Amino acid sequence: MTTKPASRFFIETFGCQMNVNDSEKVAGLLLADGYERAEAAADADFVFINTCAVREKAAEKLFHALGRLKRLKANRPDLVIGVGGCVAQLQGTGILDRAPYVDVLVGTHNVARVPELVRRARAGFSGCVDLDRKADSFTVPDAAIAHTSAVRAYVTAIEGCNHVCSFCVVPRTRGAEQCRPADNIVGEVRSLVDRGYPEVMLLGQTINAYRHEGVGFADLLERVHAITGLRRLRFTTSHPEHVDARMADAFRDLPKLCPYLHLPVQSGSDRILESMRRGYTRAEYREKAALLRDRRPDLALTSDLIVGYPGETEADFMATADLVDEVGFDGIFVFLYSPRPGTGALRLADDVAEEEKLRRFRVLNDAQQARQRARNAARVGTREEVLVDRVSDDGRVSGRTPHFQIVHLDGPGDLLGRMLEVEIVGAGPNALLGRSLPDLSSAGAVAL
Ligand code: SAM
Repeated sequence: MTTKPASRFFIETFGCQMNVNDSEKVAGLLLADGYERAEAAADADFVFINTCAVREKAAEKLFHALGRLKRLKANRPDLVIGVGGCVAQLQGTGILDRAPYVDVLVGTHNVARVPELVRRARAGFSGCVDLDRKADSFTVPDAAIAHTSAVRAYVTAIEGCNHVCSFCVVPRTRGAEQCRPADNIVGEVRSLVDRGYPEVMLLGQTINAYRHEGVGFADLLERVHAITGLRRLRFTTSHPEHVDARMADAFRDLPKLCPYLHLPVQSGSDRILESMRRGYTRAEYREKAALLRDRRPDLALTSDLIVGYPGETEADFMATADLVDEVGFDGIFVFLYSPRPGTGALRLADDVAEEEKLRRFRVLNDAQQARQRARNAARVGTREEVLVDRVSDDGRVSGRTPHFQIVHLDGPGDLLGRMLEVEIVGAGPNALLGRSLPDLSSAGAVAL
């Protein structure tokens, strides 16, 4: 093995926004260390796979990706392969037993060490592993983060999770909750805004549990909202237990806080919610949704649902389908229950057949698609404020409304980062089609 340092890297990211943000940190640190980005794994000297362990299928993606990299490495023994994220934390050196050609292994608390461990691997050292949990997860300097989007920046506010949901592996992979000092969060957002970012999304596994040295979640929102130049503020993911009047008031009182909330309910059956240890009943969830909509009537509400949880009967499932109907979500993500190592639900039999899980998945999704189709059709002819966050080669761009709906429209690439006034001219279940109203767009233009 040569001691020449790797010069190009490629990162493959699976999973949630927190993983994306971790990859942005790894990328930034590698760029600062003199590496360049490669377009594909085949062109890279170092490939980093940032993994997700939330469902077994997600975790298995790692080994599919590693199979491809093993073939690459057979021709290029200098290729350094790194694995990080939740599967790395969960399976640890078990990954090396299954894939001994992996050179670098880092847990969820150690992304800052990637460049150093890669250097050691390139120098021929084995055992380039760091799975230790750190007392402080927030060790990557803000300036080193290479944000993927030039429009919407992710800013981590909380690491880890203190909930004990019976199905969820996240507390095992990311550890207990650690809140980042509010001053640091505000400082990062301010510098992002100074660099031209119109929108930030605050991140945490349970973002609305934020509390640090007397600053609660609503206080944090107020402080970030006060930053001059910030156009849009979002956050994810919230837990129903921490929805309170102050959080609801924030949606009424803070105009830059977008009217969109992802609030996973998981099930509509009290029996299942209790077994899941979610800490609320169906009625309590509905009360929280009503409170939020009282303060912000146009709030777009989306949710996560698990079907086929152990012991979920047809009656339990119908309770979920009814709840989805009653709440009238603007979007849902439905997951087939997947038993995960070390979780409380593992002691329960995974007794809903896979075909039945799939049927329940389809029932929920079909009903939701019909709801979204009808709702979106009613938007044709209305006007929306769209922040352009994506450009494609074919002369089209897309962006998001304040309610986080995707709008596609014709327009040149230099619209990226612009806030446009758009007339909705078409609609499908998952996106809207718009036409820019140029006379109005310049008033809201944001230069990036
Ligand atoms: N708390 C994080 C968040 O919401 O951003 C991470 C949760 S996970 C990425 C997102 C969703 O996956 C959960 O809300 C839940 O619906 C689903 N999920 C988690 N564990 C699961 C499991 N064992 N089987 C199926 N779905 C699961």
